[in-house]
Amino acid sequence: MEANSPPLKIYFIPSVGPSHIVSLFELCRLFASRGVHVTLLTTPSSAGFLRKPLLRAEAAGIRIHVHSLKFPSQEVGLPEGVENVVGVDDTDVATKVFRGMGLLRHQMEQFMEQNPPDCIVADLFYPWASDLANRLGIPRLFFDGSGSFPTCLLESVRRPGSPHRFASSKSDPFVLAGLPHPITVTLSRLPDYALTTNEITYMMDSFRDSELNCYGRIVNSFAELEEEYIEHYEKTTGKAVWHVGPTTLLNRSSEDKAERNLKAVVSEDEILSWLNSKQPNSVLYVCFGSGAYFTDEQLFEIASAMESSGHKFIWVVHNKGRTENETEEDRQKWMPREFEERMRREDRGMIIRGWAPQTLILDHAAIGAFMTHCGWNSLMEGICAGVPMITWPLHSEQFFNEKLLAQVHGIGVEVGADDWVLNIYVEYATKNLVKRDRIERAVRKLMDGGDEAMDIRRRVRELTEKAKAAIGEGGSSQRKLTALIEDLQRLKSMRTKGGIDDAKEGEFKREK
Ligand code: UDP
Repeated sequence: MEANSPPLKIYFIPSVGPSHIVSLFELCRLFASRGVHVTLLTTPSSAGFLRKPLLRAEAAGIRIHVHSLKFPSQEVGLPEGVENVVGVDDTDVATKVFRGMGLLRHQMEQFMEQNPPDCIVADLFYPWASDLANRLGIPRLFFDGSGSFPTCLLESVRRPGSPHRFASSKSDPFVLAGLPHPITVTLSRLPDYALTTNEITYMMDSFRDSELNCYGRIVNSFAELEEEYIEHYEKTTGKAVWHVGPTTLLNRSSEDKAERNLKAVVSEDEILSWLNSKQPNSVLYVCFGSGAYFTDEQLFEIASAMESSGHKFIWVVHNKGRTENETEEDRQKWMPREFEERMRREDRGMIIRGWAPQTLILDHAAIGAFMTHCGWNSLMEGICAGVPMITWPLHSEQFFNEKLLAQVHGIGVEVGADDWVLNIYVEYATKNLVKRDRIERAVRKLMDGGDEAMDIRRRVRELTEKAKAAIGEGGSSQRKLTALIEDLQRLKSMRTKGGIDDAKEGEFKREK
């Protein structure tokens, strides 16, 4: 930054989903550590959720300001304090939270108009942020919590001549058009809003319009993971993209992690001492992100598969209460008879009924594979820990992320989930079950050993090294971040010198 010039001032606006809040916060931290004046615009309970990492950042001399917004609890009919979807497993509550988030627009616009920053980094759920930024003559960076690869795949499906329009059945495989790799999918694995026109289609279209109307895209990923897709994205959209992560490598300790109001019933010490007694690569870690609540029937299939695979495991289950509140009869609805006791007795497995310290677990040498729903953060965390993945996508862009792991990099084994769902709480029960034999086959493929598993392991470790190099001194992500900060400084000084007056009325966009 220019000597004596006031620091660049950036506002970050997270949405209400836990992983989006956390990953945007990690970007705040990254910018603040470079001397940028960072303000997070959020509600008290989301700020409370970030209390621990905020304090940790402060202790490390990294200052992140919080501008508190008043959540319209009464207007949307929610009790005070329910301001995000952390730990929420009820569609009605989640819908109200999202509605409340929409109503924050006026407060945010007013604040930003009165105290304009030099740049806005806003989550995709704020499509109006691009217009506001254009009006203020400042850049808006678009953030959607995922990578360039899934965005390019979705864009390919949206094209008028996309081959999915000619698929003869839901399970008929075809290759997506115009991408750097031949990516094979089926209709049943594509998001329904891209196949038909429904309410979500309109919402997603408004997000895309706002992305095309912004300055560029910021991504918590590293260039080496999706090189060809950066180029593809920039070519097809005309927008610039900055890969500045993976930030998870900068915030690895559980001390840096946000607080969840989900119960963590097993202590970190207990987990670590159990893992310490296990051989390297001998334990499977099973976790489906912050909001995947499977049906009892599906949980039963997972438990049965893990038992018959013969391998050790840590299994995270969020929607089940503590053991002492559950009868054997309750348990038998979602696991085989005396499964938990048997696994404990045989020192085979640990069920975490609540929030797990995921990065701590993944980083342990005993973890040999990660069964994941392919959420972008989990994908990053798996790669950064050097752990091969068993891919079990559910919703959002996860079926695309699976392809990045399994088809592009060969570091994931597909479990064979083949039904995209919009809402895991409601829809999963009516869609296809993934049967135990498929699950067991995928587990054995990675955990039994053999040449193929060794190759997969080697490939993921090579990517880990690339991720570390990217975020390290002189690495691609560091260079990108520097370039972005310099670019924002340049725009700021043009603005303060009156060089871009004509940018004020909606013209402030960066074409690649
Ligand atoms: N996570 C965790 N413990 C859990 C479940 C999830 O720490 O028991 C964290 C995980 O490490 C990741 C995030 O929650 O950082 C999940 O984000 P992701 O993008 O993978 O999936 P989402 O929750 O958005 O579906």
